[in-house]
Amino acid sequence: MQEFDPRAAAARRFAPKITVAIAAIVALGVGAKLTSASPAPKAPPLAVQNLGPAQPAFIQQTIPVEVQRGETMQEAVERTGIPADEARHVVDLMAQAFDIAHIRAGLAFQAAVQAPRDRRDDVKLVSLTLPASAAKTITISRTFDGALQLHQQEEQVREQETVASGEIRGSLYEAAVNAGATPQLTHQVVQLFAHKLDFTRDIQPGDKFSLVFDRKVTESGKVVETGDLIYAELDADGKTTRFYRFDRKDGPADYFDETGKNIKGFLLKTPVDGARITSLFGMRKHPILGYTRAHQGIDFGAGTGTPILAAGDGVVAEAGRKGGYGNWLRIRHNGGWDTGYGHISRYAKGIHRGSRVKQGQVVAYVGATGLATGPHLHYEVWKNGARVNPLSAKVPQGTVLGGRELAAFKAQKARIDAMLENGSGTQFAAAPASPKA
Ligand SMILES: [Zn+2]
Repeated sequence: MQEFDPRAAAARRFAPKITVAIAAIVALGVGAKLTSASPAPKAPPLAVQNLGPAQPAFIQQTIPVEVQRGETMQEAVERTGIPADEARHVVDLMAQAFDIAHIRAGLAFQAAVQAPRDRRDDVKLVSLTLPASAAKTITISRTFDGALQLHQQEEQVREQETVASGEIRGSLYEAAVNAGATPQLTHQVVQLFAHKLDFTRDIQPGDKFSLVFDRKVTESGKVVETGDLIYAELDADGKTTRFYRFDRKDGPADYFDETGKNIKGFLLKTPVDGARITSLFGMRKHPILGYTRAHQGIDFGAGTGTPILAAGDGVVAEAGRKGGYGNWLRIRHNGGWDTGYGHISRYAKGIHRGSRVKQGQVVAYVGATGLATGPHLHYEVWKNGARVNPLSAKVPQGTVLGGRELAAFKAQKARIDAMLENGSGTQFAAAPASPKA
Protein backbone atom coordinates (compact mmCIF):
# COMPACT_ATOMS: atom_id res chain seq x y z
CA MET A 1 0.00 0.00 0.00
CA GLN A 2 1.18 3.51 -0.81
CA GLU A 3 0.89 6.30 1.65
CA PHE A 4 -0.95 9.37 0.53
CA ASP A 5 1.30 12.42 0.48
CA PRO A 6 -0.66 15.59 -0.38
CA ARG A 7 2.49 17.56 -1.21
CA ALA A 8 3.69 15.00 -3.75
CA ALA A 9 0.25 14.96 -5.33
CA ALA A 10 0.26 18.75 -5.64
CA ALA A 11 3.67 18.71 -7.27
CA ARG A 12 2.51 16.12 -9.77
CA ARG A 13 -0.49 18.23 -10.52
CA PHE A 14 1.53 21.35 -11.13
CA ALA A 15 4.44 19.93 -13.03
CA PRO A 16 2.66 19.35 -16.36
CA LYS A 17 1.10 22.82 -16.25
CA ILE A 18 4.48 24.44 -15.88
CA THR A 19 5.87 22.46 -18.76
CA VAL A 20 2.92 23.48 -20.88
CA ALA A 21 3.48 27.13 -20.04
CA ILE A 22 7.14 26.95 -20.97
CA ALA A 23 6.46 25.05 -24.13
CA ALA A 24 3.85 27.58 -25.14
CA ILE A 25 6.23 30.45 -24.67
CA VAL A 26 8.95 28.76 -26.68
CA ALA A 27 6.48 27.85 -29.37
CA LEU A 28 5.16 31.37 -29.69
CA GLY A 29 8.65 32.71 -29.92
CA VAL A 30 8.03 35.55 -27.49
CA GLY A 31 10.77 36.79 -25.23
CA ALA A 32 8.53 36.26 -22.26
CA LYS A 33 8.96 37.00 -18.61
CA LEU A 34 8.32 33.69 -17.02
CA THR A 35 7.12 35.16 -13.73
CA SER A 36 3.91 36.36 -15.28
CA ALA A 37 3.23 33.14 -17.13
CA SER A 38 3.44 30.75 -14.25
CA PRO A 39 1.02 31.07 -11.38
CA ALA A 40 2.57 28.09 -9.63
CA PRO A 41 4.48 28.95 -6.51
CA LYS A 42 6.14 25.55 -6.48
CA ALA A 43 7.77 25.84 -9.90
CA PRO A 44 11.04 23.96 -9.93
CA PRO A 45 13.64 26.67 -10.52
CA LEU A 46 15.80 24.37 -12.65
CA ALA A 47 13.25 24.21 -15.46
CA VAL A 48 13.17 28.00 -15.67
CA GLN A 49 16.93 28.31 -15.87
CA ASN A 50 17.03 25.85 -18.77
CA LEU A 51 15.40 28.44 -20.93
CA GLY A 52 18.45 30.66 -20.77
CA PRO A 53 18.14 34.32 -21.68
CA ALA A 54 14.85 36.09 -22.51
CA GLN A 55 15.58 35.64 -26.22
CA PRO A 56 13.90 32.28 -27.16
CA ALA A 57 16.33 29.55 -28.02
CA PHE A 58 14.27 28.25 -30.95
CA ILE A 59 12.56 29.56 -33.99
CA GLN A 60 9.43 27.68 -34.95
CA GLN A 61 8.37 27.50 -38.54
CA THR A 62 5.48 25.93 -40.42
CA ILE A 63 6.65 24.34 -43.64
CA PRO A 64 4.25 23.23 -46.36
CA VAL A 65 5.65 20.32 -48.38
CA GLU A 66 4.37 18.90 -51.63
CA VAL A 67 5.70 15.53 -52.77
CA GLN A 68 7.56 15.93 -56.07
CA ARG A 69 7.45 13.51 -58.96
CA GLY A 70 9.78 10.58 -58.30
CA GLU A 71 10.39 11.57 -54.70
CA THR A 72 10.13 9.13 -51.78
CA MET A 73 8.27 10.00 -48.59
CA GLN A 74 11.61 10.02 -46.79
CA GLU A 75 13.00 12.62 -49.20
CA ALA A 76 9.87 14.74 -48.91
CA VAL A 77 10.02 14.68 -45.10
CA GLU A 78 13.73 15.57 -45.15
CA ARG A 79 12.87 18.75 -47.03
CA THR A 80 11.40 20.08 -43.78
CA GLY A 81 15.03 20.40 -42.64
CA ILE A 82 15.00 17.63 -40.03
CA PRO A 83 17.90 15.15 -40.02
CA ALA A 84 17.67 11.89 -42.00
CA ASP A 85 17.34 9.61 -38.96
CA GLU A 86 14.45 11.63 -37.55
CA ALA A 87 12.82 11.70 -40.99
CA ARG A 88 13.14 7.92 -41.15
CA HIS A 89 11.45 7.62 -37.77
CA VAL A 90 8.63 9.89 -38.96
CA VAL A 91 8.16 7.83 -42.13
CA ASP A 92 8.10 4.60 -40.11
CA LEU A 93 5.29 6.05 -38.01
CA MET A 94 3.40 7.20 -41.10
CA ALA A 95 3.70 3.73 -42.59
CA GLN A 96 1.53 2.39 -39.75
CA ALA A 97 -1.41 4.42 -41.03
CA PHE A 98 -0.77 5.09 -44.68
CA ASP A 99 0.60 3.39 -47.78
CA ILE A 100 3.83 5.36 -48.12
CA ALA A 101 5.16 3.18 -50.94
CA HIS A 102 2.49 4.37 -53.39
CA ILE A 103 2.41 8.10 -52.73
CA ARG A 104 1.68 10.35 -55.65
CA ALA A 105 3.32 13.59 -56.70
CA GLY A 106 1.30 16.51 -55.39
CA LEU A 107 0.46 14.93 -52.03
CA ALA A 108 0.78 17.81 -49.58
CA PHE A 109 1.46 17.92 -45.88
CA GLN A 110 2.44 20.52 -43.30
CA ALA A 111 5.22 20.28 -40.79
CA ALA A 112 5.98 22.51 -37.82
CA VAL A 113 9.68 22.46 -37.01
CA GLN A 114 11.84 24.07 -34.38
CA ALA A 115 15.24 25.38 -35.39
CA PRO A 116 17.74 26.36 -32.66
CA ARG A 117 18.57 30.03 -32.91
CA ASP A 118 22.30 29.40 -32.54
CA ARG A 119 22.18 26.66 -35.22
CA ARG A 120 24.34 24.45 -33.06
CA ASP A 121 21.67 21.79 -32.79
CA ASP A 122 19.51 19.86 -35.27
CA VAL A 123 16.17 21.08 -36.54
CA LYS A 124 13.43 19.18 -34.68
CA LEU A 125 9.99 18.19 -35.81
CA VAL A 126 7.21 19.54 -33.59
CA SER A 127 4.30 18.13 -35.59
CA LEU A 128 3.32 16.97 -39.02
CA THR A 129 -0.19 16.75 -40.47
CA LEU A 130 -1.02 14.80 -43.59
CA PRO A 131 -4.46 14.23 -45.16
CA ALA A 132 -4.11 10.55 -46.04
CA SER A 133 -7.51 10.64 -47.74
CA ALA A 134 -10.58 12.87 -47.72
CA ALA A 135 -11.80 11.03 -44.62
CA LYS A 136 -8.52 10.36 -42.82
CA THR A 137 -5.95 12.73 -41.36
CA ILE A 138 -2.76 11.54 -39.75
CA THR A 139 -0.74 13.63 -37.34
CA ILE A 140 2.69 12.98 -35.90
CA SER A 141 3.50 15.14 -32.94
CA ARG A 142 6.15 15.40 -30.29
CA THR A 143 4.98 14.60 -26.82
CA PHE A 144 6.33 16.43 -23.78
CA ASP A 145 8.81 13.67 -23.11
CA GLY A 146 10.30 14.23 -26.56
CA ALA A 147 8.99 11.13 -28.31
CA LEU A 148 7.13 11.26 -31.61
CA GLN A 149 3.61 9.90 -31.59
CA LEU A 150 1.16 8.98 -34.35
CA HIS A 151 -2.52 9.95 -34.25
CA GLN A 152 -5.11 9.01 -36.83
CA GLN A 153 -8.39 10.72 -37.21
CA GLU A 154 -10.90 9.02 -39.42
CA GLU A 155 -14.37 10.26 -40.20
CA GLN A 156 -17.32 7.99 -40.89
CA VAL A 157 -18.27 7.86 -44.54
CA ARG A 158 -21.80 7.23 -45.71
CA GLU A 159 -23.49 6.82 -49.08
CA GLN A 160 -25.87 9.52 -50.08
CA GLU A 161 -28.12 9.93 -53.09
CA THR A 162 -27.87 13.50 -54.19
CA VAL A 163 -30.28 15.50 -56.29
CA ALA A 164 -28.70 18.35 -58.20
CA SER A 165 -30.99 20.62 -60.13
CA GLY A 166 -30.85 23.99 -61.75
CA GLU A 167 -31.37 26.15 -64.73
CA ILE A 168 -29.08 26.37 -67.72
CA ARG A 169 -27.42 29.76 -68.11
CA GLY A 170 -24.24 29.07 -70.00
CA SER A 171 -23.85 25.46 -71.10
CA LEU A 172 -25.37 22.35 -69.57
CA TYR A 173 -21.82 21.52 -68.56
CA GLU A 174 -21.35 24.72 -66.52
CA ALA A 175 -24.79 24.43 -64.97
CA ALA A 176 -24.27 20.84 -63.82
CA VAL A 177 -20.86 21.59 -62.33
CA ASN A 178 -22.38 24.60 -60.52
CA ALA A 179 -25.03 22.28 -59.10
CA GLY A 180 -22.39 20.05 -57.51
CA ALA A 181 -21.69 17.39 -60.15
CA THR A 182 -18.08 16.54 -60.90
CA PRO A 183 -16.67 17.27 -64.37
CA GLN A 184 -16.52 13.51 -65.11
CA LEU A 185 -20.15 13.00 -64.15
CA THR A 186 -21.16 16.04 -66.17
CA HIS A 187 -19.27 14.75 -69.17
CA GLN A 188 -21.27 11.52 -68.86
CA VAL A 189 -24.54 13.47 -68.68
CA VAL A 190 -23.64 15.51 -71.75
CA GLN A 191 -22.71 12.36 -73.67
CA LEU A 192 -25.96 10.64 -72.72
CA PHE A 193 -28.15 13.60 -73.70
CA ALA A 194 -26.21 13.82 -76.97
CA HIS A 195 -28.02 10.63 -78.00
CA LYS A 196 -31.39 12.32 -77.80
CA LEU A 197 -30.79 16.00 -78.31
CA ASP A 198 -29.05 18.25 -80.71
CA PHE A 199 -27.32 20.63 -78.33
CA THR A 200 -27.16 23.28 -81.02
CA ARG A 201 -30.86 23.76 -81.33
CA ASP A 202 -32.56 21.93 -78.48
CA ILE A 203 -30.98 23.54 -75.42
CA GLN A 204 -31.65 27.15 -74.55
CA PRO A 205 -30.88 29.38 -71.55
CA GLY A 206 -33.57 28.91 -68.91
CA ASP A 207 -34.02 25.20 -69.61
CA LYS A 208 -34.16 23.14 -66.40
CA PHE A 209 -32.36 19.97 -65.46
CA SER A 210 -32.16 17.51 -62.56
CA LEU A 211 -29.52 14.91 -61.84
CA VAL A 212 -29.45 12.16 -59.23
CA PHE A 213 -26.13 10.60 -58.38
CA ASP A 214 -24.41 8.64 -55.61
CA ARG A 215 -21.87 10.25 -53.36
CA LYS A 216 -19.78 9.21 -50.40
CA VAL A 217 -19.76 11.94 -47.79
CA THR A 218 -17.91 12.26 -44.47
CA GLU A 219 -19.59 13.33 -41.21
CA SER A 220 -18.28 16.84 -41.69
CA GLY A 221 -19.77 16.97 -45.17
CA LYS A 222 -16.64 16.48 -47.27
CA VAL A 223 -17.31 14.59 -50.49
CA VAL A 224 -14.99 11.59 -50.64
CA GLU A 225 -16.17 10.20 -53.91
CA THR A 226 -18.80 10.89 -56.53
CA GLY A 227 -20.23 7.67 -57.83
CA ASP A 228 -22.70 6.72 -60.48
CA LEU A 229 -25.22 8.82 -62.27
CA ILE A 230 -28.63 7.37 -61.38
CA TYR A 231 -31.01 9.69 -63.19
CA ALA A 232 -30.94 12.71 -65.47
CA GLU A 233 -33.74 14.93 -66.68
CA LEU A 234 -33.73 17.87 -69.02
CA ASP A 235 -36.69 20.13 -69.79
CA ALA A 236 -35.87 21.68 -73.12
CA ASP A 237 -37.60 22.59 -76.33
CA GLY A 238 -41.04 22.04 -74.76
CA LYS A 239 -40.35 18.42 -73.88
CA THR A 240 -38.83 16.50 -70.99
CA THR A 241 -36.06 14.02 -71.71
CA ARG A 242 -35.27 11.69 -68.85
CA PHE A 243 -33.28 8.53 -68.40
CA TYR A 244 -32.61 6.07 -65.60
CA ARG A 245 -29.61 3.94 -64.86
CA PHE A 246 -30.27 0.22 -64.79
CA ASP A 247 -27.86 -2.64 -64.05
CA ARG A 248 -28.43 -5.38 -66.57
CA LYS A 249 -27.90 -8.99 -65.58
CA ASP A 250 -25.59 -9.71 -68.50
CA GLY A 251 -23.39 -6.76 -69.27
CA PRO A 252 -22.68 -3.35 -67.85
CA ALA A 253 -25.15 -0.82 -66.48
CA ASP A 254 -26.83 1.33 -69.04
CA TYR A 255 -29.36 4.14 -69.28
CA PHE A 256 -32.96 3.76 -70.38
CA ASP A 257 -35.88 6.09 -71.00
CA GLU A 258 -39.13 5.76 -69.01
CA THR A 259 -40.39 2.99 -71.29
CA GLY A 260 -37.25 0.86 -70.86
CA LYS A 261 -35.71 1.79 -74.21
CA ASN A 262 -31.92 2.22 -74.24
CA ILE A 263 -31.12 5.92 -74.43
CA LYS A 264 -28.28 5.16 -76.79
CA GLY A 265 -29.68 5.06 -80.26
CA PHE A 266 -27.77 3.34 -82.96
CA LEU A 267 -25.85 6.54 -83.81
CA LEU A 268 -25.02 9.62 -81.73
CA LYS A 269 -26.81 12.79 -82.77
CA THR A 270 -23.80 14.95 -81.98
CA PRO A 271 -20.46 13.15 -82.53
CA VAL A 272 -18.45 16.02 -81.05
CA ASP A 273 -18.70 17.49 -77.57
CA GLY A 274 -20.11 20.96 -77.09
CA ALA A 275 -20.22 21.81 -80.79
CA ARG A 276 -22.74 23.83 -82.78
CA ILE A 277 -23.96 23.06 -86.29
CA THR A 278 -22.57 25.66 -88.66
CA SER A 279 -23.70 24.21 -91.96
CA LEU A 280 -26.57 21.91 -92.86
CA PHE A 281 -26.98 19.12 -95.38
CA GLY A 282 -28.11 20.23 -98.87
CA MET A 283 -27.33 22.79 -101.56
CA ARG A 284 -25.10 25.70 -100.65
CA LYS A 285 -22.44 27.95 -102.06
CA HIS A 286 -19.12 26.34 -101.17
CA PRO A 287 -17.11 28.75 -99.00
CA ILE A 288 -13.82 28.02 -100.79
CA LEU A 289 -14.79 26.76 -104.23
CA GLY A 290 -17.28 29.62 -104.61
CA TYR A 291 -19.91 27.75 -106.64
CA THR A 292 -23.13 26.10 -105.51
CA ARG A 293 -23.10 22.40 -104.87
CA ALA A 294 -24.64 19.88 -102.49
CA HIS A 295 -23.18 19.85 -99.02
CA GLN A 296 -22.98 16.13 -98.40
CA GLY A 297 -22.98 16.24 -94.61
CA ILE A 298 -23.32 18.64 -91.71
CA ASP A 299 -20.63 20.82 -90.20
CA PHE A 300 -20.04 21.20 -86.48
CA GLY A 301 -18.02 24.27 -85.50
CA ALA A 302 -15.49 23.40 -82.77
CA GLY A 303 -11.93 24.36 -81.95
CA THR A 304 -8.93 22.44 -83.22
CA GLY A 305 -8.26 19.49 -80.93
CA THR A 306 -11.88 19.03 -79.76
CA PRO A 307 -12.48 15.26 -79.41
CA ILE A 308 -14.56 13.58 -82.12
CA LEU A 309 -16.62 10.63 -80.87
CA ALA A 310 -17.49 7.50 -82.81
CA ALA A 311 -21.20 7.87 -83.60
CA GLY A 312 -21.76 4.15 -83.11
CA ASP A 313 -20.06 0.80 -82.56
CA GLY A 314 -18.19 -0.37 -85.64
CA VAL A 315 -14.95 -0.94 -87.50
CA VAL A 316 -12.73 1.75 -89.04
CA ALA A 317 -13.03 1.37 -92.82
CA GLU A 318 -10.91 4.35 -93.90
CA ALA A 319 -8.37 6.47 -92.00
CA GLY A 320 -6.16 8.72 -94.12
CA ARG A 321 -5.95 11.69 -96.53
CA LYS A 322 -8.85 12.02 -98.94
CA GLY A 323 -8.87 15.11 -101.22
CA GLY A 324 -10.87 18.06 -99.91
CA TYR A 325 -11.80 16.10 -96.75
CA GLY A 326 -8.18 16.38 -95.61
CA ASN A 327 -7.65 13.75 -92.92
CA TRP A 328 -10.71 11.55 -93.21
CA LEU A 329 -12.18 8.76 -91.10
CA ARG A 330 -14.99 6.42 -92.04
CA ILE A 331 -16.55 3.94 -89.61
CA ARG A 332 -18.61 1.00 -90.84
CA HIS A 333 -21.56 0.08 -88.57
CA ASN A 334 -24.05 -2.76 -88.74
CA GLY A 335 -27.00 -2.81 -91.13
CA GLY A 336 -25.35 -0.98 -94.02
CA TRP A 337 -24.69 2.23 -92.10
CA ASP A 338 -21.44 4.22 -92.26
CA THR A 339 -20.38 7.50 -90.67
CA GLY A 340 -17.62 9.78 -92.01
CA TYR A 341 -15.54 12.50 -90.36
CA GLY A 342 -13.55 15.11 -92.31
CA HIS A 343 -10.90 17.86 -91.74
CA ILE A 344 -9.45 15.92 -88.77
CA SER A 345 -6.28 17.38 -87.21
CA ARG A 346 -5.15 14.01 -85.86
CA TYR A 347 -6.43 10.52 -85.13
CA ALA A 348 -6.76 9.13 -81.61
CA LYS A 349 -4.25 6.52 -80.50
CA GLY A 350 -4.89 3.08 -81.95
CA ILE A 351 -7.21 4.31 -84.72
CA HIS A 352 -6.38 2.81 -88.12
CA ARG A 353 -8.10 0.79 -90.81
CA GLY A 354 -9.58 -2.30 -89.20
CA SER A 355 -9.70 -1.08 -85.56
CA ARG A 356 -12.92 -1.72 -83.64
CA VAL A 357 -14.55 1.28 -82.00
CA LYS A 358 -17.29 1.71 -79.43
CA GLN A 359 -20.01 4.34 -79.51
CA GLY A 360 -18.82 7.53 -77.81
CA GLN A 361 -15.14 6.55 -77.98
CA VAL A 362 -12.77 9.38 -78.94
CA VAL A 363 -11.54 8.48 -82.43
CA ALA A 364 -10.02 11.74 -83.70
CA TYR A 365 -9.69 15.47 -83.09
CA VAL A 366 -11.23 18.44 -84.89
CA GLY A 367 -8.99 20.29 -87.35
CA ALA A 368 -8.99 22.21 -90.63
CA THR A 369 -7.14 19.87 -93.00
CA GLY A 370 -8.27 19.73 -96.64
CA LEU A 371 -10.70 22.33 -98.02
CA ALA A 372 -11.75 24.07 -94.83
CA THR A 373 -11.93 27.77 -93.98
CA GLY A 374 -11.48 27.06 -90.29
CA PRO A 375 -11.52 24.21 -87.77
CA HIS A 376 -14.75 22.20 -87.84
CA LEU A 377 -16.00 18.65 -88.15
CA HIS A 378 -17.58 17.68 -91.45
CA TYR A 379 -19.84 14.76 -90.58
CA GLU A 380 -21.52 12.38 -93.03
CA VAL A 381 -23.94 9.49 -92.62
CA TRP A 382 -24.15 6.81 -95.30
CA LYS A 383 -26.87 4.19 -95.85
CA ASN A 384 -25.99 1.35 -98.23
CA GLY A 385 -23.26 3.44 -99.86
CA ALA A 386 -25.27 6.66 -100.35
CA ARG A 387 -25.02 9.81 -98.28
CA VAL A 388 -28.13 10.73 -96.27
CA ASN A 389 -29.04 13.73 -94.12
CA PRO A 390 -27.65 12.96 -90.63
CA LEU A 391 -30.43 14.98 -88.98
CA SER A 392 -33.36 13.23 -90.60
CA ALA A 393 -31.98 9.74 -91.32
CA LYS A 394 -34.16 6.99 -89.85
CA VAL A 395 -31.46 5.26 -87.80
CA PRO A 396 -32.46 2.15 -85.82
CA GLN A 397 -33.38 2.30 -82.11
CA GLY A 398 -31.25 0.88 -79.34
CA THR A 399 -32.17 -2.18 -77.26
CA VAL A 400 -35.47 -2.35 -75.36
CA LEU A 401 -35.85 -4.05 -71.97
CA GLY A 402 -38.42 -6.79 -71.66
CA GLY A 403 -39.76 -9.47 -69.28
CA ARG A 404 -38.16 -9.68 -65.85
CA GLU A 405 -35.62 -7.01 -66.69
CA LEU A 406 -38.37 -4.57 -67.57
CA ALA A 407 -40.18 -5.35 -64.28
CA ALA A 408 -36.97 -4.75 -62.31
CA PHE A 409 -36.34 -1.55 -64.24
CA LYS A 410 -39.85 -0.29 -63.45
CA ALA A 411 -39.34 -0.93 -59.73
CA GLN A 412 -36.07 1.01 -59.81
CA LYS A 413 -37.73 3.82 -61.76
CA ALA A 414 -40.63 4.02 -59.24
CA ARG A 415 -38.14 4.37 -56.38
CA ILE A 416 -36.32 7.26 -58.09
CA ASP A 417 -39.57 8.97 -59.12
CA ALA A 418 -40.80 8.82 -55.50
CA MET A 419 -37.52 10.23 -54.27
CA LEU A 420 -37.72 13.15 -56.69
CA GLU A 421 -41.35 13.81 -55.81
CA ASN A 422 -40.81 13.86 -52.03
CA GLY A 423 -37.64 15.83 -52.41
CA SER A 424 -35.76 13.24 -50.36
CA GLY A 425 -32.06 12.71 -50.92
CA THR A 426 -29.78 15.67 -50.46
CA GLN A 427 -30.81 18.59 -52.58
CA PHE A 428 -28.46 20.88 -54.39
CA ALA A 429 -29.68 23.83 -56.36
CA ALA A 430 -27.42 25.41 -58.89
CA ALA A 431 -26.05 28.73 -57.81
CA PRO A 432 -27.36 31.19 -60.36
CA ALA A 433 -24.52 31.70 -62.78
CA SER A 434 -23.94 35.26 -63.82
CA PRO A 435 -25.05 35.84 -67.38
CA LYS A 436 -22.19 35.89 -69.83
CA ALA A 437 -20.90 39.30 -70.72
ZN1 LIG B 1 -18.89 20.08 -94.43
